[in-house]
Amino acid sequence: MLAQGKTPNVLIAAARREPVVHMPEGSESQGSVTRPVRALILENRMAVFVLDKKKHPLMPCSEKRARLLLERGRAVVVRLHPFTIRLKDRLGGETQPLRLQLDPGSRTTGIALVREDETLDPDTGEVRREAHVVWLGELTHRGAQIRDRLASRRASRRRRRTQNLRHRAPRFLNRTKPQGWLAPSLRHRLDTTLSWVARLQRLAPITSLHQELVRFDTQAMQNPEISGIDYQQGELAGYEVREYLLEKWHRTCAYCGAQGVPLQIEHIQPKSRGGSNRVSNLTLACAPCNERKGSQPIEHFLKDKPTVLHRIQAQAKTPLRDAAAVNATRWALFERLKATGLPVASSSGAQTKYNRQRLGIPKTHALDAVCVGPLEALHGWNRPTLAIKATWRGSYQRTRLDRFGFPRGYLTRRKRIHGVQTGDRVVAEVPSGKHAGNHVGRVAVRKTGSFNIQTARGVVQGISHRHCRVVQRADGYGYAIHPTLTEEARRVA
Ligand SMILES: [Zn+2]
Repeated sequence: MLAQGKTPNVLIAAARREPVVHMPEGSESQGSVTRPVRALILENRMAVFVLDKKKHPLMPCSEKRARLLLERGRAVVVRLHPFTIRLKDRLGGETQPLRLQLDPGSRTTGIALVREDETLDPDTGEVRREAHVVWLGELTHRGAQIRDRLASRRASRRRRRTQNLRHRAPRFLNRTKPQGWLAPSLRHRLDTTLSWVARLQRLAPITSLHQELVRFDTQAMQNPEISGIDYQQGELAGYEVREYLLEKWHRTCAYCGAQGVPLQIEHIQPKSRGGSNRVSNLTLACAPCNERKGSQPIEHFLKDKPTVLHRIQAQAKTPLRDAAAVNATRWALFERLKATGLPVASSSGAQTKYNRQRLGIPKTHALDAVCVGPLEALHGWNRPTLAIKATWRGSYQRTRLDRFGFPRGYLTRRKRIHGVQTGDRVVAEVPSGKHAGNHVGRVAVRKTGSFNIQTARGVVQGISHRHCRVVQRADGYGYAIHPTLTEEARRVA
């Protein structure tokens, strides 16, 4: 339930007097916040998660339906982000298969919830795989901050140790790491992603998972028979091969070493002389080199450059090492997703790109997640995205250090001040003074009861606790809603 149960019907309250609740950050700056919200609720077609009486997930509904249910008192608000309601009079219900799709990235992971539809083409009798987008999210990780904090802690400890123990023999490289160990910054990526998979499983009846696992599917390139019709038709195979060759030949022309120019796929032994289409016979060349070489055998074309010839022949035979094409964190995530018990499918980045370009979809992390896997048609992708930013829940360390590792000040033992904790999402209605007006955002508390609020427009400092009302408790994440991509943005992308 919502932290302050006194407002059982936040959405209606929002539309009536505290409209800040469901607003995307950044849109509350235009004077009165009371007016635009009702419009936003109608315009933003963001799915609302629905739970039954016993908190079992039902099919997500539209915002309009959620609003009607709340107005009639048939539902209560469970969470604001992601917006979830609970039906008071319903136990169980029909659900349709929902697939959670993930595109793991180093800084941001795209998350998409799609309803899969398999329609039978009446003319050909073929099965068409169509996806209806239900919900979009983007999870921003904080791997870089974790790395920096660990580095600074290491430096402080090293200083404290070496200061008094200059003569002790160094002890290092004396630890072993368990198998499957990931650096803390990478493990955090894994943990936050899995935590969101688990959260969404509690909010929606998810029946399967799909993850982008590798950048290109080497197995599918070598054995075209094993995979679907797209590979046999060659278009997707072409995508995979091209991505693979760019990586393998370091995005340079194999013959002259030119970089940053358009590169063409080039047969090392020309097809006219019996050269195959296999990846080991392909390289990349700039247009002038490709033209000059024409249909000459490579030995003839490079007879004056034996070193180049030798290098190309050696490089062509060496397959790209798996480690270069595959990311350890993604495999670890794949293994952990399988442990959820749901069926997990995987696909390649080249497939994602192929789908995105074929269906004319702009590139965002969330929409990349939508395009993961085999897909023939897509509906309703142009929706708002919930931006989820991993923050932290605070530190155990109560001593603030200066840059040399010496104590600079001490934090209070208490985390909650006047019922508010750093990281809570609050609405502050300030009646008068310098900061008069409404402010929504993440709060940072002080012992004095004078808080700072991180709004979309920046930090508002010195807001009294008396004006603050918690709308969602700190859960380790910050939230914002990215509105629908406009037609213009779509054209640019
Ligand atoms: Zn060249």
